[in-house]
Amino acid sequence: MKNKKIALITGATRGIGLAIAKELANDGFLIAGTGTSQQSTDGLREELKSNNIEGSAYILDITDEHSIEKLYSDINKDFSETPDVVVNNAGITNDNLLIRMSDDQWFKTINTNLNSLYTISKIFLKPMIKKRKGRIICISSVVANTGNAGQTNYVTTKSGMIGFCKSLAREVATRGITVNCVSPGFITTDMTDKLSDAQKEQISKDIPMSKMGVAADIAYAVAFLASEKAEYITGETIHVNGGLYMQ
Ligand code: NAP
Repeated sequence: MKNKKIALITGATRGIGLAIAKELANDGFLIAGTGTSQQSTDGLREELKSNNIEGSAYILDITDEHSIEKLYSDINKDFSETPDVVVNNAGITNDNLLIRMSDDQWFKTINTNLNSLYTISKIFLKPMIKKRKGRIICISSVVANTGNAGQTNYVTTKSGMIGFCKSLAREVATRGITVNCVSPGFITTDMTDKLSDAQKEQISKDIPMSKMGVAADIAYAVAFLASEKAEYITGETIHVNGGLYMQ
């Protein structure tokens, strides 16, 4: 356990986060994954066990500073080390047209997807600066570049995330730490299951590859950014979207 690197993945109970946990474990990382409830975290623990993945599962509410502080000290206690890689994956959607959006829809989405980046990065960055190495990888979204009607709250968080990563990348570049985003297009998970069949059909028509992606497509890009091979890439966004958006 001693020589292995540790990867923290927030929101690792399902969807993209779980695929990232499996892929990074495949690459030799010890996994610290999080869920929001006892039930989802127990499920993650079972997933890790049944896939022979070394690591632990933790309850985390990313909107709560004390919950992040507890996660930090629990990981330190369990692994006797701090994470080498932090994947900011946990996120929510809460869609509505701006004119109908409630304060709760707006602030909950901003707090979960964006304000959490401030808190988690400040805490987990400190030991990376000391060790003079580390990787921060954030899961943004294609809509950060295209915009999306009904998602002013969500798109604000995902484009804010890209600006955050570019700025932090510049701050820590000389400390051996890289900060990058992976920007998924439409990926089949619980989040996109909320879309109607008609919406999914329309989305697939708009994608040059004519299909939605799978969580592993995102995990492969994250694994590359977490690897030694990506040492000279920072402040960048890798788009994984079947051609839906090309920069
Ligand atoms: P998902 O299936 O809905 O899973 C969300 C994960 O986030 C779950 O593990 C959930 O934990 C966790 N979570 C939710 N609220 C949280 C909170 N307050 N604190 C800590 N964790 C929380 O989502 P997904 O589709 O895999 O998406 C993962 C990321 O990719 C998100 O940031 C999303 O915005 C982004 N993304 C997804 C798509 C897509 O097409 N799916 C496209 C672009 C970007 P529980 O299981 O305990 O609820």
